[in-house]
Amino acid sequence: MSKTFYLTTPIYYINSVPHLGHAYTTVIADAMARYHRLAGDRVWLLTGTDEHGDKIAQAAAKAAVSPQALADRNSAAFREAWQRLGTTQDDFIRTTEGRHRTVVQAILQKLWDVGEIYLGKYGGHYCYGCERFYTEKEIVDGKCPDHQTPLTFIEEENYFFKMSKYQGWLIDYITTRPDLIRPERYRNEILGFLRDPLQDLSISRPRRRLEWGIPLPFDDKYVTYVWFDALINYASALGWPDGERFHTFWPVVQHLIGKDILKPHAVYWPCMLKAAGLDIYQHLNVHGYWTLGGGKMSKSVGNVVEAFALSDKYGGDAFRYFVMREMTFGLDADFSEEAFVGRLNADLANDLGNLVARATTLIANYQREAGPAAAAGPDDTAIREAAMTARRGVEAAMDEFAFHRALAALWEFIGAVNRYVDSNQPWALAKDPAQRPRLDRVLLTLAETLRYLGVMLTAFLPDAAGKILAAIGHTAAPSLADAEIGRLDRLPTVQKLSGLFPRVDTKEAGAAPAGSSTAAKAGKPAQAAAAEPAGPATIGDFRRIDLRVAEVVAAEALPKSKKLLKLTVSLGAEQRTILAGIAQHYAPADLVGKKVVVVANLEPAKLMGMESQGMVLAGSTDDDGALAVIVLDRDLPAGAKVR
Ligand SMILES: [Zn+2]
Repeated sequence: MSKTFYLTTPIYYINSVPHLGHAYTTVIADAMARYHRLAGDRVWLLTGTDEHGDKIAQAAAKAAVSPQALADRNSAAFREAWQRLGTTQDDFIRTTEGRHRTVVQAILQKLWDVGEIYLGKYGGHYCYGCERFYTEKEIVDGKCPDHQTPLTFIEEENYFFKMSKYQGWLIDYITTRPDLIRPERYRNEILGFLRDPLQDLSISRPRRRLEWGIPLPFDDKYVTYVWFDALINYASALGWPDGERFHTFWPVVQHLIGKDILKPHAVYWPCMLKAAGLDIYQHLNVHGYWTLGGGKMSKSVGNVVEAFALSDKYGGDAFRYFVMREMTFGLDADFSEEAFVGRLNADLANDLGNLVARATTLIANYQREAGPAAAAGPDDTAIREAAMTARRGVEAAMDEFAFHRALAALWEFIGAVNRYVDSNQPWALAKDPAQRPRLDRVLLTLAETLRYLGVMLTAFLPDAAGKILAAIGHTAAPSLADAEIGRLDRLPTVQKLSGLFPRVDTKEAGAAPAGSSTAAKAGKPAQAAAAEPAGPATIGDFRRIDLRVAEVVAAEALPKSKKLLKLTVSLGAEQRTILAGIAQHYAPADLVGKKVVVVANLEPAKLMGMESQGMVLAGSTDDDGALAVIVLDRDLPAGAKVR
């Protein structure tokens, strides 16, 4: 049964150009919308721009253009940015549009008519940057707590919305709906805030101070306060009060915001909706900040990463993957190109890219016309179950906007399939004609995992997903119903697909995006990373090292060397020669059959005229008096990743 799903991003304030924070919000909203479309839901995704207020008027005056001209230019920059990132919003609303202005004025008139708005006097400390008054309690050393700039004392007559009378109702409404504001930390923050008396909300600005806004319908000497104007976009875009779209989507409205705009959305907005007789939103989903070396990155405080430069450089999918996987939804996360490249190489190039290359190559190479496949064995059933587990994991995670958990669930599955290939060794099965039916079963399972991944990844990595589906000839529109394994009995014709996510040479990754303030940090050359670490290792440093379980297949002493043993190890899909300096501690026979841990992506080294293709991990005392090779506490297949 198809459901309806309506999601909004904030409408972005056009006093700045789009930056990483905006890109993150828009990309995850897009992934959520894609996911619901995949599930067959009727979806509406709204984004847009917030264009009124002091700051726009001031910026326009400074640039000697009209506020409308500035708004047109800056709003276009957002639309271009989303086009560049390939996001799939269904509508883009601007608060300077007639369709929005009409609704704002109609709602104001309605509230005025029923006595929810009154004219009152207000004096207070005002920040022009924030466009709001600050209470004595909030002021820090006479300055705006956000901008650290001096506040201006202003006294004026203004219209007020009787918000204070909704305090008890709002507390009760939030308390009885545990997932209204989520994650929970933000719900708690708002309930904490509501322990103090709620003030009425000044919703107007005198036109002698500010012209750039929507005039109050009942007093045109005033324009509407920018927040009261902006929040209404979520309803005006649907054609409140009687648009068909409004009736379809308003009952399921969910908002996605950053934590910097929690209060207007969690306090003002529900009170406004209640007073105007509209249903309250289903969920307010709140994400944290991206930081850069620990500092907040926001629209008004510098530190803007060139998100788009990274997206252009490494691909839109890699950018999407990084921001969704790296940030635990609701918490802050640190952005660095190092971490970005670490994830790209480990998760996308290695885990996913290699699997797709292996599976498509195996199927293309061993495909044949006829012959029934063997019945599914325990390994195949395990893959089918792993796929179902991952899908349930994605479903549960996406219900809570936990993008990081959804991707982790899919990567669990990718790991399981990589291990499946290693342990079933289709290349070995192919050598034995008697194993042909078994080989066909393995290939079928792999073809189905490709379809499964192609479908599931449509929400998160749309370009890569499209390539995977094209490679297996899946031409139907992707649908969650096809994310299932165990129903194929014929192999599709498969095109080899390699290089889905090319590995980034970390030496090259030192060239940070042009003009990026991350250049110095992210641009640490790989040579420095290879030498003694200068500071604490980051998780990105660690991820660059590909550690694998390796089974020692053969070991021999080298007559000319006292120190080196020549080991032949299996990494599942391949065998390697590794020269290990452990001859004084181990006899060759001690090692054969052991599962050890090797660095699999070490640059090959020539030792004693032979090439060593990796390094075996061992612990030792400083003087080399004692040495112990690291082995596994429990069995894992050769090739398994160590992390
Ligand atoms: Zn301020």
